[in-house]
Amino acid sequence: MTVRSDTTVALDSRFARELPEMAVPWQATTFDAAHVLVLNEPLAAELGLDSAFLRSADGARLLVGDLLPDGAYPVAQAYAGHQFGGYSPRLGDGRALLLGEIVDVRGDLRDLHLKGSGPTPFSRGGDGFAAVAPMLREYLISEAMHALGVPTTRALAVVATGQAVRRETMLPGAVLARVAGSHLRVGSFQYAAATGDVDLVRRLTAHAIERHHPELVGAHNPGLALLNAVIAAQAELVARWMLVGFVHGVMNTDNMTISGETIDYGPCAFMDAFDAASVYSSIDSGGRYAFGNQPLVAEWNLARFAETLLPTLDDDPDAAITLAQASLETFRTRYNAHWSAGMLAKLGLRPDLDPAAVPPLLADLLDVLQAGGVDHTAFFRALGAAARGNADSVRAMFSDPTAFDAWMLRWASSGPDASAMDDVNPVYIPRNHLVEEALDAAVAGDLAPFETLLDVVASPYRERPGRERYAAPAPPDFGAYQTFCGT
Ligand code: AMP
Ligand code: MG
Repeated sequence: MTVRSDTTVALDSRFARELPEMAVPWQATTFDAAHVLVLNEPLAAELGLDSAFLRSADGARLLVGDLLPDGAYPVAQAYAGHQFGGYSPRLGDGRALLLGEIVDVRGDLRDLHLKGSGPTPFSRGGDGFAAVAPMLREYLISEAMHALGVPTTRALAVVATGQAVRRETMLPGAVLARVAGSHLRVGSFQYAAATGDVDLVRRLTAHAIERHHPELVGAHNPGLALLNAVIAAQAELVARWMLVGFVHGVMNTDNMTISGETIDYGPCAFMDAFDAASVYSSIDSGGRYAFGNQPLVAEWNLARFAETLLPTLDDDPDAAITLAQASLETFRTRYNAHWSAGMLAKLGLRPDLDPAAVPPLLADLLDVLQAGGVDHTAFFRALGAAARGNADSVRAMFSDPTAFDAWMLRWASSGPDASAMDDVNPVYIPRNHLVEEALDAAVAGDLAPFETLLDVVASPYRERPGRERYAAPAPPDFGAYQTFCGT
């Protein structure tokens, strides 16, 4: 590790300073042959970082945690979490480091975090490393989510380490440099609460409020104010996932942020054919984190979050539970409001449509989509064409369009606005078969397909001539898609 003062990156270490009990000072592994594979230049500019420097040999060393700017104080963050419902008291950054926080050009504090930077005291049985393909995958999907308007951590760079990692075979290793509003998780609060130190929970609450909800600083009941804010943010986030057909795949409490950003793109995928039971994770055999379960799981995770705050909500435990329950009950209403508004927008309908007509119109559409097994993304775009008077392509998506025809008549009678639909229904999402194709090529040394796909999904709503294959569903021989955790 070398400390240099001529880099232009000013890193704070506010998390480590304010919550030392949850931060283990640590250093990345030294990677001798690090070189940048992909760099997010617009994001670098947002952070006030010089892309030319980041692309240099020293820049690559900085992006793998080897060359530390003056004053940097990298830490592995401690957190706990419920994984598939089972509680683990000590998870933490087993292959990641928080390099520090950067003030971006808007004046907001952002975490600069490395994933795959080597073993830490939280590594348990893992090696602390990451392979190129899964890090490129997180880069691609998180940037696609951002382009779709879904709150998410961002990808600053993927840097090849030049070192092989052992999985089923030996694979090229990489570090993902990730940027987030923060890396505070529900699991961070679980860790703090499990220490039994209520003051630590209070300090963590204050830290989260200052970072994510400065308007709540000075709130009479900070725990309750934060709980309500996180419930609101997560209700909106999960509604957005459902509207774009995103399956997170591993909604453990350690993978649910306090900021309301999507985090940890492991076994995630965008759904092709609409199916509420869609599961892509190889280890989710029970379908706990299936597409249609995501709102319920979010609510369950938020209940675990609320539990960590109970001692701070009221001195009387019963009163604290009453407050937490009342707050948790708002999740469904908030979620439904976001989801319904989003669906009406996707259908090109006015938000002031007769409130009694909306729930059945939407529920019946889901039934029609589920029964027809039609491609989720292509359906809404083709429906836009139907709003212009050409229903042939959308009808052709159903082997038997009878039920759809009946639904379409009801929808059409409300006067859908086709151009408004095109503004919110993407043409391009990172389709699984295209992602795999791009990653295979990248691992074989050809980054061009990855760069093209990234470029396409970064402008999801604008149909581009020559890019037809990026809008088409997977070929029938693509088969069932599976993704893997911890890769
Ligand atoms: P995830 O399912 O990726 O959110 O990770 C769950 C936990 O496993 C976290 O504590 C990670 O830091 C840890 N972990 C995942 N992969 C590795 C690895 N290769 N080496 C060490 N720890 C890991
Ligand atoms: Mg995780």
